[in-house]
Amino acid sequence: MPRSLAREQDIHSRPTPKSPPRLTSLTSRRIGIHTSTAGGIHNAAEHAYRIGCNTLQIFSSSPRQWARHELSYPLCEQMLRLRALYNLKPLVIHTNYLVNLASTNELFLKKSIEAFRGEVERALAICADYLVLHPGSFRGADREAGLLQTAAAIAAAIQGLDLAQGGLTILIENTAGSEFSLGGSFEQVGEVIDRLRDIIPIAACIDTCHTHVAGYDIVSEEGIYQTLQHLDAAIGLNNVKVIHCNDAKAARGSKLDRHQQIGKGTIGSEPFRILLNDLRLAHAAFIAETPIDKPGDDRRNVEALKKLVG
Ligand SMILES: [Zn+2]
Ligand SMILES: [Zn+2]
Repeated sequence: MPRSLAREQDIHSRPTPKSPPRLTSLTSRRIGIHTSTAGGIHNAAEHAYRIGCNTLQIFSSSPRQWARHELSYPLCEQMLRLRALYNLKPLVIHTNYLVNLASTNELFLKKSIEAFRGEVERALAICADYLVLHPGSFRGADREAGLLQTAAAIAAAIQGLDLAQGGLTILIENTAGSEFSLGGSFEQVGEVIDRLRDIIPIAACIDTCHTHVAGYDIVSEEGIYQTLQHLDAAIGLNNVKVIHCNDAKAARGSKLDRHQQIGKGTIGSEPFRILLNDLRLAHAAFIAETPIDKPGDDRRNVEALKKLVG
């Protein structure tokens, strides 16, 4: 059976066994958190549901290791069953941090392309909806060459893989924009998307912490509406499929990427209320990548976001 059909059946049409008890309140938005896959990827779905998520993000392999990692079929099957049971969608995978598709080092670039291809293969195997990628570091070249290189490397990595049939979209994430890192402006994210939009399903992931420390005003009410206008012009709000909801430890414009619990940092709760309630973003998944300083912080951050809706 083509994967897309299997996916439709598994996620949407398969009759769900009697509804599990809801542990927390319902929300009209898709809200979740980056969840650990310790003990197997299916554990992430269980845990996400138990802490009140209706979407989740995971790593499909160790985020700081190159080792190739194959997912076993029964695990993927189990993941699909749990997602259907718990109404968890979309499933977002975050790419390994080592991958740098803008690298000017030929060997490193080759390794990154291979690793990213592995990410795409696993995302397809697990029937993920989105694969988030940081656009990379252009050290040794200039920014424009870096953006071109990243787009070319994504195209090279996915050759022969059918993302559209697998229902998978690559999301380019904006970054804090420090030193050589690409993606510190919405225009840079938009450029990578524009270069690839005719060949693969591609859109954007916007991180609130990165946006703030890159220098955009998302704190004052006027500022956040201007920033959304800017984002709409550069990328299109309809192309923002995932919003990483992270408060920040560092100041606006500092280029320091340190995530903080929702409402406890330099952004504060109010901007999240505006984002969560803006109907132009109602299609997006709101996913926290907040630190777990003490047990239960993940549940508390998901709750904090859900309370801001409506
Ligand atoms: Zn992020
Ligand atoms: Zn970050």
